Amino acid sequence: MERTLVPPVVATRRSGRAHYYPDVTDAQWADWKWQFRHRLTKLEELEKFLPIPAAERALRADVLRDFRMGITPYYLSLVDADDPADPILRQVAPIAEEYLFRDVGEEDPLGEERYSPVPGITHRYPDRVLMVISNSCAIYCRYCTRKRIMYEDAVPDVEIDRMVEYIAKTPRVRDVIVSGGDPLTYGTKKLESILSKLRAIPHLEIIRIGSRVPVSLPQRIDDELCEMLAKYHPLWINVHFNHPRELTPDAAAACDKLSRAGIPLNNQSVLLKGVNDDVPTMRALCTGLMKMRVRPYYLYQCDQIRGAEHFRTPVSKGIEVIEGLRGHISGLAVPTFVIDAPGGGGKVPVMPQYLLQHDTKNQRVVLRNFQDRLFVYHEPSGRARPIGERSGELEVPAVASPIVESAAPAANAPAPTAVERANGAAPAKASSGTSNGKTNGNGKSNGRSRAADQRVGADGKPVVGKSRWVHRGHSREERVRKANET
Ligand code: SF4
Repeated sequence: MERTLVPPVVATRRSGRAHYYPDVTDAQWADWKWQFRHRLTKLEELEKFLPIPAAERALRADVLRDFRMGITPYYLSLVDADDPADPILRQVAPIAEEYLFRDVGEEDPLGEERYSPVPGITHRYPDRVLMVISNSCAIYCRYCTRKRIMYEDAVPDVEIDRMVEYIAKTPRVRDVIVSGGDPLTYGTKKLESILSKLRAIPHLEIIRIGSRVPVSLPQRIDDELCEMLAKYHPLWINVHFNHPRELTPDAAAACDKLSRAGIPLNNQSVLLKGVNDDVPTMRALCTGLMKMRVRPYYLYQCDQIRGAEHFRTPVSKGIEVIEGLRGHISGLAVPTFVIDAPGGGGKVPVMPQYLLQHDTKNQRVVLRNFQDRLFVYHEPSGRARPIGERSGELEVPAVASPIVESAAPAANAPAPTAVERANGAAPAKASSGTSNGKTNGNGKSNGRSRAADQRVGADGKPVVGKSRWVHRGHSREERVRKANET
Protein backbone atom coordinates (compact mmCIF):
# COMPACT_ATOMS: atom_id res chain seq x y z
CA MET A 1 0.00 0.00 0.00
CA GLU A 2 1.36 3.42 -0.89
CA ARG A 3 2.09 5.59 2.08
CA THR A 4 0.81 9.10 2.00
CA LEU A 5 2.88 12.06 3.10
CA VAL A 6 -0.24 13.98 3.80
CA PRO A 7 -1.93 13.82 7.17
CA PRO A 8 -5.71 13.58 7.15
CA VAL A 9 -7.42 16.93 7.24
CA VAL A 10 -10.68 17.01 9.12
CA ALA A 11 -13.25 18.46 6.76
CA THR A 12 -15.71 20.81 8.37
CA ARG A 13 -19.14 21.65 7.08
CA ARG A 14 -18.28 25.19 6.07
CA SER A 15 -14.62 25.57 5.26
CA GLY A 16 -12.27 25.01 2.35
CA ARG A 17 -11.78 26.78 -0.93
CA ALA A 18 -15.19 25.64 -2.24
CA HIS A 19 -16.91 27.34 0.67
CA TYR A 20 -15.02 30.65 0.69
CA TYR A 21 -13.91 31.04 -2.93
CA PRO A 22 -16.19 28.93 -5.15
CA ASP A 23 -15.53 31.07 -8.24
CA VAL A 24 -11.77 31.20 -8.10
CA THR A 25 -10.05 29.17 -10.82
CA ASP A 26 -7.40 26.52 -10.14
CA ALA A 27 -4.82 28.70 -11.86
CA GLN A 28 -5.62 31.67 -9.64
CA TRP A 29 -5.62 29.56 -6.48
CA ALA A 30 -2.22 28.03 -7.35
CA ASP A 31 -0.67 31.42 -8.12
CA TRP A 32 1.11 32.71 -5.03
CA LYS A 33 1.03 36.29 -6.29
CA TRP A 34 -2.76 36.08 -6.68
CA GLN A 35 -2.97 34.74 -3.14
CA PHE A 36 -0.73 37.50 -1.83
CA ARG A 37 -2.65 40.23 -3.64
CA HIS A 38 -6.00 38.94 -2.37
CA ARG A 39 -5.09 38.85 1.29
CA LEU A 40 -7.77 40.13 3.62
CA THR A 41 -6.34 43.24 5.18
CA LYS A 42 -9.48 45.15 6.19
CA LEU A 43 -12.22 44.29 8.60
CA GLU A 44 -14.92 44.71 5.99
CA GLU A 45 -13.18 42.16 3.76
CA LEU A 46 -13.12 39.62 6.57
CA GLU A 47 -16.74 40.39 7.41
CA LYS A 48 -17.85 39.24 3.97
CA PHE A 49 -16.88 35.72 5.04
CA LEU A 50 -17.21 35.72 8.80
CA PRO A 51 -19.64 37.94 10.68
CA ILE A 52 -18.22 40.14 13.42
CA PRO A 53 -20.45 40.86 16.46
CA ALA A 54 -21.61 44.48 16.27
CA ALA A 55 -20.48 45.16 19.83
CA GLU A 56 -16.90 44.21 18.91
CA ARG A 57 -16.54 45.89 15.59
CA ALA A 58 -15.20 49.21 16.85
CA LEU A 59 -12.71 47.47 19.18
CA ARG A 60 -11.41 45.29 16.42
CA ALA A 61 -11.06 48.22 14.06
CA ASP A 62 -9.07 50.01 16.74
CA VAL A 63 -6.75 47.02 17.11
CA LEU A 64 -5.93 47.19 13.41
CA ARG A 65 -4.64 50.72 13.85
CA ASP A 66 -1.92 49.22 16.05
CA PHE A 67 -1.09 46.06 14.17
CA ARG A 68 -2.18 45.22 10.67
CA MET A 69 -4.13 42.20 9.51
CA GLY A 70 -3.25 39.89 6.64
CA ILE A 71 -4.97 36.61 5.81
CA THR A 72 -4.33 34.80 2.53
CA PRO A 73 -7.36 33.18 0.84
CA TYR A 74 -5.62 29.85 1.35
CA TYR A 75 -5.23 30.35 5.10
CA LEU A 76 -8.83 31.55 5.37
CA SER A 77 -9.91 28.33 3.66
CA LEU A 78 -8.65 26.38 6.70
CA VAL A 79 -11.02 28.24 9.03
CA ASP A 80 -14.20 26.54 10.21
CA ALA A 81 -16.83 29.21 9.55
CA ASP A 82 -19.08 27.71 12.22
CA ASP A 83 -16.58 28.03 15.03
CA PRO A 84 -16.07 31.58 16.36
CA ALA A 85 -13.17 30.27 18.49
CA ASP A 86 -11.54 28.47 15.59
CA PRO A 87 -7.81 28.00 16.36
CA ILE A 88 -6.74 28.96 12.84
CA LEU A 89 -8.80 32.15 12.82
CA ARG A 90 -7.68 33.04 16.33
CA GLN A 91 -4.07 33.27 15.15
CA VAL A 92 -4.75 35.91 12.50
CA ALA A 93 -8.00 37.79 13.20
CA PRO A 94 -8.14 40.66 15.70
CA ILE A 95 -10.44 39.94 18.61
CA ALA A 96 -11.74 41.97 21.53
CA GLU A 97 -9.14 40.58 23.97
CA GLU A 98 -6.39 42.08 21.85
CA TYR A 99 -7.97 45.45 22.44
CA LEU A 100 -8.40 44.83 26.16
CA PHE A 101 -4.75 43.88 26.53
CA ARG A 102 -3.40 46.50 24.13
CA ASP A 103 -1.36 48.13 26.89
CA VAL A 104 -0.12 44.91 28.49
CA GLY A 105 3.27 43.66 27.35
CA GLU A 106 6.29 45.08 25.56
CA GLU A 107 7.00 46.45 22.11
CA ASP A 108 10.32 44.63 21.94
CA PRO A 109 10.11 41.90 24.59
CA LEU A 110 13.37 40.21 23.56
CA GLY A 111 15.47 43.37 23.51
CA GLU A 112 16.37 42.83 19.85
CA GLU A 113 17.00 46.53 19.34
CA ARG A 114 19.40 46.60 22.28
CA TYR A 115 21.58 43.93 20.68
CA SER A 116 21.52 45.54 17.26
CA PRO A 117 24.93 46.76 16.03
CA VAL A 118 23.39 47.92 12.72
CA PRO A 119 19.69 48.25 11.85
CA GLY A 120 18.21 44.85 11.01
CA ILE A 121 20.92 42.77 12.73
CA THR A 122 20.53 41.32 16.22
CA HIS A 123 23.78 39.89 17.54
CA ARG A 124 22.96 38.21 20.83
CA TYR A 125 24.78 34.87 20.66
CA PRO A 126 28.52 34.64 20.02
CA ASP A 127 28.59 32.90 16.64
CA ARG A 128 25.27 33.72 15.00
CA VAL A 129 23.13 36.68 14.08
CA LEU A 130 19.54 37.41 13.20
CA MET A 131 19.08 39.38 10.00
CA VAL A 132 15.68 41.01 9.49
CA ILE A 133 15.39 41.61 5.74
CA SER A 134 11.65 42.10 5.35
CA ASN A 135 8.81 43.91 7.04
CA SER A 136 5.98 41.95 5.54
CA CYS A 137 4.41 38.53 5.88
CA ALA A 138 1.76 36.53 4.07
CA ILE A 139 -0.29 36.48 7.27
CA TYR A 140 0.11 38.59 10.39
CA CYS A 141 0.05 36.48 13.52
CA ARG A 142 -1.62 38.35 16.36
CA TYR A 143 1.05 37.21 18.85
CA CYS A 144 4.05 38.10 16.67
CA THR A 145 7.14 39.15 18.62
CA ARG A 146 8.09 41.60 15.87
CA LYS A 147 4.79 43.41 15.57
CA ARG A 148 6.74 46.63 15.94
CA ILE A 149 8.34 46.34 12.49
CA MET A 150 5.34 45.22 10.50
CA TYR A 151 4.55 47.74 7.88
CA GLU A 152 4.64 47.06 4.17
CA ASP A 153 7.46 49.33 3.02
CA ALA A 154 10.27 47.07 1.94
CA VAL A 155 13.54 47.22 3.85
CA PRO A 156 15.76 49.46 1.69
CA ASP A 157 18.52 47.68 -0.21
CA VAL A 158 21.11 49.92 1.36
CA GLU A 159 20.09 48.65 4.81
CA ILE A 160 20.33 45.05 3.67
CA ASP A 161 23.80 45.78 2.28
CA ARG A 162 24.87 47.18 5.65
CA MET A 163 23.68 44.02 7.36
CA VAL A 164 25.69 41.89 4.93
CA GLU A 165 28.69 44.16 5.50
CA TYR A 166 28.45 43.67 9.28
CA ILE A 167 28.47 39.90 8.88
CA ALA A 168 31.39 40.11 6.42
CA LYS A 169 33.54 42.08 8.84
CA THR A 170 32.66 39.94 11.89
CA PRO A 171 34.56 36.67 11.47
CA ARG A 172 33.06 35.01 14.53
CA VAL A 173 29.65 34.94 12.85
CA ARG A 174 29.34 31.50 11.29
CA ASP A 175 25.54 31.21 11.16
CA VAL A 176 22.88 33.70 10.04
CA ILE A 177 19.13 33.47 10.51
CA VAL A 178 17.50 35.37 7.67
CA SER A 179 14.12 36.41 8.91
CA GLY A 180 11.65 39.24 9.02
CA GLY A 181 8.81 39.56 8.40
CA ASP A 182 8.95 36.68 6.01
CA PRO A 183 11.88 36.50 3.57
CA LEU A 184 9.98 34.14 1.27
CA THR A 185 7.45 36.88 0.48
CA TYR A 186 10.19 38.42 -1.67
CA GLY A 187 10.44 37.51 -5.33
CA THR A 188 13.00 34.81 -6.12
CA LYS A 189 15.45 37.20 -7.83
CA LYS A 190 15.53 39.65 -4.96
CA LEU A 191 15.99 36.86 -2.43
CA GLU A 192 18.78 35.36 -4.51
CA SER A 193 20.60 38.68 -4.65
CA ILE A 194 20.73 38.67 -0.83
CA LEU A 195 21.63 34.98 -0.44
CA SER A 196 24.42 35.22 -3.00
CA LYS A 197 26.03 38.09 -1.09
CA LEU A 198 25.82 36.12 2.13
CA ARG A 199 27.23 32.97 0.55
CA ALA A 200 30.21 34.96 -0.72
CA ILE A 201 31.32 35.59 2.88
CA PRO A 202 34.01 32.95 3.52
CA HIS A 203 33.51 32.54 7.29
CA LEU A 204 29.71 32.26 7.08
CA GLU A 205 29.02 28.55 7.24
CA ILE A 206 25.27 28.20 7.68
CA ILE A 207 22.34 30.16 6.27
CA ARG A 208 18.98 29.63 7.92
CA ILE A 209 15.72 31.14 6.75
CA GLY A 210 12.75 31.61 9.07
CA SER A 211 9.45 31.45 7.19
CA ARG A 212 5.77 30.84 7.78
CA VAL A 213 5.06 30.72 4.06
CA PRO A 214 4.77 26.90 3.87
CA VAL A 215 1.93 27.31 6.40
CA SER A 216 0.21 30.42 5.12
CA LEU A 217 1.05 30.55 1.41
CA PRO A 218 2.35 27.12 0.35
CA GLN A 219 1.86 28.03 -3.33
CA ARG A 220 4.97 30.22 -2.97
CA ILE A 221 7.18 27.14 -2.71
CA ASP A 222 7.57 26.58 -6.42
CA ASP A 223 10.27 24.84 -8.46
CA GLU A 224 12.03 28.08 -9.37
CA LEU A 225 12.39 29.04 -5.70
CA CYS A 226 13.61 25.59 -4.67
CA GLU A 227 16.20 25.45 -7.48
CA MET A 228 17.50 28.84 -6.43
CA LEU A 229 17.67 27.96 -2.73
CA ALA A 230 19.53 24.71 -3.50
CA LYS A 231 22.45 26.78 -4.86
CA TYR A 232 23.19 28.24 -1.45
CA HIS A 233 23.69 25.19 0.74
CA PRO A 234 24.21 24.52 3.58
CA LEU A 235 20.83 26.22 3.91
CA TRP A 236 18.18 25.33 6.46
CA ILE A 237 14.61 26.52 6.86
CA ASN A 238 12.71 26.95 10.10
CA VAL A 239 8.97 26.77 9.52
CA HIS A 240 6.20 27.67 11.94
CA PHE A 241 3.22 25.32 12.16
CA ASN A 242 1.09 25.70 15.28
CA HIS A 243 -1.90 23.48 14.74
CA PRO A 244 -2.48 20.08 13.10
CA ARG A 245 -5.14 21.57 10.82
CA GLU A 246 -2.36 23.57 9.17
CA LEU A 247 -0.83 20.30 7.97
CA THR A 248 -2.75 20.24 4.71
CA PRO A 249 -1.88 18.48 1.44
CA ASP A 250 -0.71 21.84 0.06
CA ALA A 251 1.56 22.45 3.05
CA ALA A 252 2.88 18.88 2.83
CA ALA A 253 3.64 19.35 -0.88
CA ALA A 254 5.49 22.60 -0.15
CA CYS A 255 7.60 20.95 2.56
CA ASP A 256 8.26 17.99 0.29
CA LYS A 257 9.61 20.30 -2.42
CA LEU A 258 11.92 22.01 0.03
CA SER A 259 13.12 18.68 1.40
CA ARG A 260 13.81 17.42 -2.11
CA ALA A 261 15.93 20.52 -2.65
CA GLY A 262 18.08 19.22 0.22
CA ILE A 263 16.82 21.71 2.78
CA PRO A 264 16.37 20.37 6.32
CA LEU A 265 13.12 21.63 7.84
CA ASN A 266 12.63 22.35 11.52
CA ASN A 267 9.43 23.57 13.08
CA GLN A 268 9.10 26.29 15.69
CA SER A 269 5.66 26.42 17.32
CA VAL A 270 4.41 28.94 19.81
CA LEU A 271 2.30 27.66 22.69
CA LEU A 272 -0.94 29.62 22.41
CA LYS A 273 -3.97 29.56 24.65
CA GLY A 274 -7.02 28.43 22.72
CA VAL A 275 -4.90 27.23 19.79
CA ASN A 276 -2.59 24.40 20.78
CA ASP A 277 -2.32 24.39 24.59
CA ASP A 278 -3.24 20.78 25.13
CA VAL A 279 -1.49 17.45 24.76
CA PRO A 280 -3.71 15.84 22.08
CA THR A 281 -3.33 18.85 19.76
CA MET A 282 0.43 18.98 20.20
CA ARG A 283 0.76 15.23 19.74
CA ALA A 284 -1.20 15.41 16.49
CA LEU A 285 0.91 18.37 15.36
CA CYS A 286 4.28 16.80 16.17
CA THR A 287 3.52 13.37 14.74
CA GLY A 288 1.94 14.97 11.65
CA LEU A 289 5.05 17.10 11.11
CA MET A 290 7.22 14.00 11.26
CA LYS A 291 5.16 12.46 8.45
CA MET A 292 5.98 15.56 6.40
CA ARG A 293 9.70 15.17 7.26
CA VAL A 294 9.64 18.31 9.36
CA ARG A 295 11.40 17.99 12.70
CA PRO A 296 9.59 19.58 15.66
CA TYR A 297 12.38 21.79 16.97
CA TYR A 298 11.16 24.38 19.48
CA LEU A 299 7.95 24.96 21.36
CA TYR A 300 8.11 28.58 22.48
CA GLN A 301 6.45 30.05 25.50
CA CYS A 302 4.56 33.04 24.08
CA ASP A 303 6.62 36.21 24.52
CA GLN A 304 5.33 39.11 26.59
CA ILE A 305 4.42 41.04 23.49
CA ARG A 306 2.01 43.92 23.71
CA GLY A 307 -1.61 42.95 23.01
CA ALA A 308 -1.04 39.19 23.23
CA GLU A 309 -1.75 38.54 26.90
CA HIS A 310 -4.79 36.43 25.98
CA PHE A 311 -2.51 33.98 24.15
CA ARG A 312 -0.16 33.43 27.07
CA THR A 313 -0.27 30.23 29.11
CA PRO A 314 1.33 29.48 32.48
CA VAL A 315 4.82 27.97 32.14
CA SER A 316 3.44 24.83 33.81
CA LYS A 317 1.24 24.30 30.74
CA GLY A 318 4.29 23.94 28.49
CA ILE A 319 5.87 21.51 30.94
CA GLU A 320 2.64 19.51 31.01
CA VAL A 321 2.56 19.39 27.21
CA ILE A 322 6.15 18.15 26.99
CA GLU A 323 5.44 15.60 29.71
CA GLY A 324 2.55 14.37 27.55
CA LEU A 325 4.87 13.99 24.55
CA ARG A 326 8.14 12.65 25.95
CA GLY A 327 8.09 8.86 25.92
CA HIS A 328 4.61 8.75 24.41
CA ILE A 329 5.78 9.60 20.90
CA SER A 330 9.18 9.28 19.25
CA GLY A 331 11.88 11.41 20.82
CA LEU A 332 12.51 12.88 17.36
CA ALA A 333 9.00 14.34 17.46
CA VAL A 334 9.40 16.06 20.83
CA PRO A 335 10.35 19.75 20.56
CA THR A 336 12.39 21.57 23.18
CA PHE A 337 10.18 23.85 25.23
CA VAL A 338 11.94 27.20 25.57
CA ILE A 339 11.32 30.58 27.11
CA ASP A 340 13.05 33.42 25.32
CA ALA A 341 14.39 35.32 28.30
CA PRO A 342 12.95 38.86 28.44
CA GLY A 343 15.27 41.65 27.45
CA GLY A 344 17.62 39.49 25.40
CA GLY A 345 18.76 36.64 27.64
CA GLY A 346 18.32 34.12 24.87
CA LYS A 347 16.40 30.86 24.80
CA VAL A 348 16.23 28.97 28.05
CA PRO A 349 15.11 25.34 27.80
CA VAL A 350 12.50 24.34 30.37
CA MET A 351 11.90 20.67 30.97
CA PRO A 352 9.76 18.45 33.14
CA GLN A 353 11.96 17.18 35.98
CA TYR A 354 13.24 13.69 35.21
CA LEU A 355 16.40 13.81 37.34
CA LEU A 356 14.95 13.63 40.84
CA GLN A 357 18.05 13.27 42.93
CA HIS A 358 21.78 13.62 42.32
CA ASP A 359 23.60 11.97 45.21
CA THR A 360 27.23 12.92 44.60
CA LYS A 361 28.43 11.15 47.77
CA ASN A 362 27.13 7.79 46.66
CA GLN A 363 27.61 8.61 42.99
CA ARG A 364 24.06 7.82 42.02
CA VAL A 365 21.13 9.60 40.43
CA VAL A 366 17.45 8.84 40.77
CA LEU A 367 15.55 9.16 37.52
CA ARG A 368 11.86 9.26 36.72
CA ASN A 369 10.64 7.82 33.43
CA PHE A 370 7.61 8.87 31.37
CA GLN A 371 5.42 6.40 33.30
CA ASP A 372 6.46 7.97 36.59
CA ARG A 373 8.57 4.93 37.51
CA LEU A 374 11.79 5.58 39.39
CA PHE A 375 15.21 4.20 38.59
CA VAL A 376 18.58 4.38 40.26
CA TYR A 377 21.54 4.87 37.97
CA HIS A 378 25.09 4.71 39.30
CA GLU A 379 27.76 6.94 37.90
CA PRO A 380 31.18 5.48 37.14
CA SER A 381 33.19 4.99 40.33
CA GLY A 382 36.03 2.73 39.20
CA ARG A 383 35.33 0.23 41.99
CA ALA A 384 33.36 -2.96 42.34
CA ARG A 385 29.87 -2.25 43.53
CA PRO A 386 28.40 -4.25 46.38
CA ILE A 387 25.19 -6.11 45.53
CA GLY A 388 22.97 -3.74 47.49
CA GLU A 389 24.20 -0.74 45.55
CA ARG A 390 23.30 -1.81 42.04
CA SER A 391 21.36 0.26 39.58
CA GLY A 392 17.78 -0.50 38.68
CA GLU A 393 14.16 0.34 39.37
CA LEU A 394 13.34 1.83 42.72
CA GLU A 395 10.42 1.10 45.00
CA VAL A 396 8.98 -2.28 44.18
CA PRO A 397 6.16 -3.44 46.42
CA ALA A 398 6.78 -7.17 45.97
CA VAL A 399 10.54 -7.06 46.46
CA ALA A 400 12.28 -5.24 49.27
CA SER A 401 14.28 -2.48 47.65
CA PRO A 402 17.88 -2.23 48.75
CA ILE A 403 17.59 1.57 48.59
CA VAL A 404 14.19 2.40 50.02
CA GLU A 405 14.24 1.76 53.70
CA SER A 406 11.17 3.07 55.37
CA ALA A 407 8.22 1.77 57.31
CA ALA A 408 5.14 0.60 55.43
CA PRO A 409 2.65 3.45 55.02
CA ALA A 410 -0.80 3.45 56.58
CA ALA A 411 -3.44 2.01 54.28
CA ASN A 412 -5.08 5.40 53.75
CA ALA A 413 -1.87 7.39 53.40
CA PRO A 414 -1.67 9.57 50.28
CA ALA A 415 0.67 8.29 47.60
CA PRO A 416 4.10 9.86 48.00
CA THR A 417 5.20 12.21 45.25
CA ALA A 418 7.93 11.16 42.89
CA VAL A 419 10.42 13.33 44.75
CA GLU A 420 9.39 11.80 48.10
CA ARG A 421 9.77 8.38 46.61
CA ALA A 422 13.18 9.29 45.27
CA ASN A 423 14.10 10.32 48.78
CA GLY A 424 13.03 6.98 50.15
CA ALA A 425 9.32 7.28 50.99
CA ALA A 426 7.60 3.91 50.79
CA PRO A 427 4.87 3.45 48.19
CA ALA A 428 1.27 3.91 49.21
CA LYS A 429 -0.70 0.72 49.36
CA ALA A 430 -2.47 0.04 46.10
CA SER A 431 -6.22 0.27 46.21
CA SER A 432 -6.68 -2.94 44.27
CA GLY A 433 -4.94 -6.21 44.88
CA THR A 434 -3.43 -6.23 41.44
CA SER A 435 -2.45 -2.64 40.79
CA ASN A 436 0.98 -1.46 41.85
CA GLY A 437 -0.47 1.98 42.51
CA LYS A 438 1.84 3.68 40.07
CA THR A 439 0.68 6.31 37.67
CA ASN A 440 1.36 6.90 34.05
CA GLY A 441 2.40 10.24 32.61
CA ASN A 442 -1.17 11.50 32.82
CA GLY A 443 -1.46 10.80 36.51
CA LYS A 444 -3.75 7.84 35.99
CA SER A 445 -3.16 4.37 37.34
CA ASN A 446 -1.67 2.14 34.70
CA GLY A 447 -3.79 -0.66 36.16
CA ARG A 448 -1.14 -3.33 35.70
CA SER A 449 0.33 -5.72 38.15
CA ARG A 450 4.03 -5.12 38.20
CA ALA A 451 4.72 -8.50 39.66
CA ALA A 452 2.89 -10.18 36.82
CA ASP A 453 4.07 -7.73 34.18
CA GLN A 454 7.74 -7.53 34.92
CA ARG A 455 8.84 -10.64 36.66
CA VAL A 456 6.86 -13.32 34.85
CA GLY A 457 6.54 -13.59 31.07
CA ALA A 458 3.39 -14.27 29.06
CA ASP A 459 4.15 -17.96 29.30
CA GLY A 460 4.05 -17.72 33.09
CA LYS A 461 7.78 -18.35 33.38
CA PRO A 462 10.08 -15.95 35.16
CA VAL A 463 11.66 -13.44 32.86
CA VAL A 464 15.37 -13.18 33.44
CA GLY A 465 16.41 -11.91 30.04
CA LYS A 466 17.32 -8.42 28.97
CA SER A 467 14.48 -6.10 28.33
CA ARG A 468 11.49 -7.21 30.39
CA TRP A 469 13.37 -7.58 33.62
CA VAL A 470 13.90 -4.48 35.65
CA HIS A 471 17.02 -5.10 37.64
CA ARG A 472 16.78 -4.04 41.25
CA GLY A 473 19.93 -5.09 42.93
CA HIS A 474 19.40 -8.83 43.32
CA SER A 475 21.37 -11.62 41.82
CA ARG A 476 19.82 -13.50 38.94
CA GLU A 477 19.29 -16.54 41.19
CA GLU A 478 17.51 -14.40 43.75
CA ARG A 479 15.28 -12.84 41.11
CA VAL A 480 14.29 -16.24 39.77
CA ARG A 481 13.58 -17.47 43.29
CA LYS A 482 11.41 -14.46 44.11
CA ALA A 483 9.56 -14.72 40.79
CA ASN A 484 8.78 -18.32 41.62
CA GLU A 485 7.45 -17.32 45.02
CA THR A 486 5.00 -14.82 43.52
S1 SF4 B 1 4.73 34.98 10.01
FE1 SF4 B 1 6.25 35.16 11.66
S2 SF4 B 1 7.12 37.21 11.44
FE2 SF4 B 1 5.17 37.15 10.28
S3 SF4 B 1 3.60 37.87 11.67
FE3 SF4 B 1 3.66 35.63 11.84
S4 SF4 B 1 5.07 35.23 13.53
FE4 SF4 B 1 5.40 37.37 12.88
